[in-house]
Amino acid sequence: MTNRVLIAQFMHETNTFSKLPTTLEDYRRQRLVEGAAIVPAFTGTRNELGGFIDAAQTHGWEPVWGVAANTTPSGRLTKEAWEHIRDLILDAARKTGEVDAVCLSLHGAMVSETEDDAEGALLEALRGVVGPDVPVVATLDLHANATARMARHANALVSYRTYPHVDGYERAVQAAQLVEDALQGRKNPRCLLVQPAMLKGADHGRTTQPGIMRDLLARAEEFERQPGLNVVSIQVGFTWSDIPWAGPSIAVSHEPGAEDSAAATAEALIAEMWARRNEFSSSYRSIDEAVAAARRGGDRPLVLAEGTDNPGGGGYNDAPNLLRALLDAGIVTVAVGTIYDPGTVRQALKAGVGARIEVTLGGHTDPSLGAPVQATAEVRHLSDGNFRNDGPMNAGVRVALGATAVLRLGDGIDVITTSTRMHTIDLQVFLSQGIDPLGRNVLVVKSSQHFRAAFEPIAREVMLVDAGGLCSTDASRFTYAKLRRPIWPLDPVEDPLAG
Ligand SMILES: [Zn+2]
Repeated sequence: MTNRVLIAQFMHETNTFSKLPTTLEDYRRQRLVEGAAIVPAFTGTRNELGGFIDAAQTHGWEPVWGVAANTTPSGRLTKEAWEHIRDLILDAARKTGEVDAVCLSLHGAMVSETEDDAEGALLEALRGVVGPDVPVVATLDLHANATARMARHANALVSYRTYPHVDGYERAVQAAQLVEDALQGRKNPRCLLVQPAMLKGADHGRTTQPGIMRDLLARAEEFERQPGLNVVSIQVGFTWSDIPWAGPSIAVSHEPGAEDSAAATAEALIAEMWARRNEFSSSYRSIDEAVAAARRGGDRPLVLAEGTDNPGGGGYNDAPNLLRALLDAGIVTVAVGTIYDPGTVRQALKAGVGARIEVTLGGHTDPSLGAPVQATAEVRHLSDGNFRNDGPMNAGVRVALGATAVLRLGDGIDVITTSTRMHTIDLQVFLSQGIDPLGRNVLVVKSSQHFRAAFEPIAREVMLVDAGGLCSTDASRFTYAKLRRPIWPLDPVEDPLAG
C-alpha cells in the first residue's frame, strides 16, 4: 500500500521587538506556493522541500502537497497571515481524508498576534486532525525557540547543524527516513524537549570555526548512535523574541523505554552549554574601525557585515549610519547590498537609468536608529529584483527583492536599493544587479553570519559592524515582559535546570 505523506513548509523567524508586522502580502511577495506547484518550484533545490521531494520518491510515497511559505524575519504575523497559512496545511490534511504521515519544514521561532508558540499551535492542531498514531516530523532552524508543546505533538524535531544554514536538504532527508522507519514499523519515535534557564548560548550556533557549537554537535551525533535514540537536535534559540520560551533547548527523539537515556543526553549537552556560556567568537566593530579598514584598501573586497541591521534576524534593513560614514569619508568602489527603501526605488523608476535624483535614503522605519542619508544619486540600474541563489546556502531557490534600483552616491558608492527586506546570503544579490563583487574595494552586506558561506571565500577581510540597528546582541537593551525568569544572562542563575 502506498503511504500518503503530507509535505508542507511554514517558516518565520519573528522578532517581536520589530514594529513591522508580518503580513500575508509579505508571504505572497516572497514565498507562498500552494499544492502541487511546490514540485517544480523546489525540485533540485538544497532547501528542505528539495529534500522532502527526493525522499518521497526514494520511499515511494504519494505526497500530499500543503503549502510552502516563508518570508523575511520581522514582527509578529498578523492574525490573517497566521490563520490563512495554518489552514492551508490543516485543510490539506483534512481533504485528503487520511494521511499516513506528515513532514513539515518549520523555523521554530514563529510568533503571531494570537499565538506566542505558533509552531506548537500548528503541530497541536495538525495532531488533532491526523490523530495520535500518525508520524509527524518537523525540521527546524537551529535558532528555533522550541517548546515542550512542539515536542509533545511531533515525533521528532530535526534542526539544522550548520550556521550558515547549508544543510536544510540533509535534515529533511534525515527526518523523512525516520518517518519511513516509523511507517514500516521499525521505529516508534516520540520527542522530549529540555530547556535551560538561558536566553542564549553555544556562540549563537556558529559552526564556521572550531568551538562550542561544533563540539556540541559532535557529541549529539555520538549520542544519536546510542540504542533507543533517533535524533538529537540542538537549538540555540532566538533572543529577539519576548515569549516565555526564548532561548536554547535540546530535543531528543527516542524510542519507548529510552526516556531516561534521552533526558540524560539533553542534560549532558545543556551542562556543557552552561559551562561554556561565555564563549563568543564574534566581536562587533565600530563604524570608525570599519571606515579605517576600508581606507587601507587591498586586492580583494573588504566585507563589512552590518549584523545589527540584519533582516535575517528581523532588522529593518535600512540602517543608514555605515553608508553615511563611508560617504563622508570619500571611500570609493563600494557596493552596498542592500538598503530597503521602496519609496526611493519608485523615485528612481520614475526618473529612469542615467537620471540624477535627490534621495532621502534609508532610515525610514525607525529614524531613532539613524536618520536617512540625504544625497544626490545617479540611477545606474533598474530591475525587478528576481534571481536564483547559486551559492552554498539555499542553492537554486528563487529570491524576489522586488523592484530594485542601483543608485550611485558620491564618487563611487553603489547602493542596491530594494522594495523587499532580504538578508544578503548570496553573491547574486550583487551579480544580478550588474555589480561584480570581486571588483569592489568594499562590500557592505546586511547579515550577521549567513553571508560567510558565499562571501568569505572572496573577501580580503570580514568585519562585523555594529552601526546601530535593531538586532543588538546586548539583551539588556530590550524590555522583556513575557520571558520566563530568572534567566541567564539577565538574572543571576545558579543551576540552569533547576526550574
Ligand atoms: Zn537561523
